[in-house]
Amino acid sequence: MTNIKEPIAVCPSCEKVIWSGARVWRKGDELYCHSKCLVASFSKEKAVAQ
Ligand SMILES: [Zn+2]
Repeated sequence: MTNIKEPIAVCPSCEKVIWSGARVWRKGDELYCHSKCLVASFSKEKAVAQ
């Protein structure tokens, strides 16, 4: 059996490669590698907006 993993995205927060089959957190079109990265993206947006 082959289990080929392919990079599907790069986490916009930490720039880590996200592989197919990995757990991801989605926000709109963006995929994050970890819930912390997703949360970090929200706090960044807040910082920009204020
Ligand atoms: Zn990340």
